[in-house]
Amino acid sequence: MNARTRGDTEETRVLVVEDDRGIAESLVRGLRQAGYGVEGVRTGRAALSASTPDVVLLDLGLPDIDGVEVCRRLRARSDAAIIAVTARGEEADRVVALDEGADDYLVKPFGLAELLARIRAVLRRRRPAGPEILRHGPLALDLRTRQVSVDGRAVSLTPKEFVILECLAADPGRVVTRQQILERAWDAHWYGPTKVLDVHVAALRRKLGMPGLIETVYGQGFRLGAVQESQERP
Ligand code: CA
Repeated sequence: MNARTRGDTEETRVLVVEDDRGIAESLVRGLRQAGYGVEGVRTGRAALSASTPDVVLLDLGLPDIDGVEVCRRLRARSDAAIIAVTARGEEADRVVALDEGADDYLVKPFGLAELLARIRAVLRRRRPAGPEILRHGPLALDLRTRQVSVDGRAVSLTPKEFVILECLAADPGRVVTRQQILERAWDAHWYGPTKVLDVHVAALRRKLGMPGLIETVYGQGFRLGAVQESQERP
């Protein structure tokens, strides 16, 4: 069984929806050899009842349900990347599939190298697929809306303050170096004084109102410390 959780170390799962047995078998074999976890199904109905994959390779010409309809229903309930597969000449279907949420398409016949490149491309565009909300005690960072709250109370941060906090909250307890934070929040090659970082961290501490949350690790950087709230509980 493949792991169900997502992360860099987990296998990426591809669902191959293809009713042509010969094509399906070669796709499944090729994708497995490339290191993907693969499930192959032959019908639209089976595709809709399969476990949620990372990528769906969806033949639009299926025996039971129209492939575009399958695409629409998959999109409605999952954020998996969908690559529609059509026969030559089915341009209208490709356009509709893209309108219905497909991320890309391939025209038969296609080679394995092209398929693998398309999969890598759609995954690149989709990631990061990590958690959208980082939590640490009463602190919550919504990475999508870039809103921060403490105990449900909204805290207004500048973009730089948000990125600094995001660096730390991504892995509470781990020391993040000054250089790592500067590169994320300012520029890939920051050669200026790092005092500017201390100014922003001071502002963050003040706004969050949780003294001790952001710990200075002398000579190294910063980390999120244990939350006082949890220390008060028995
Ligand atoms: Ca077909």
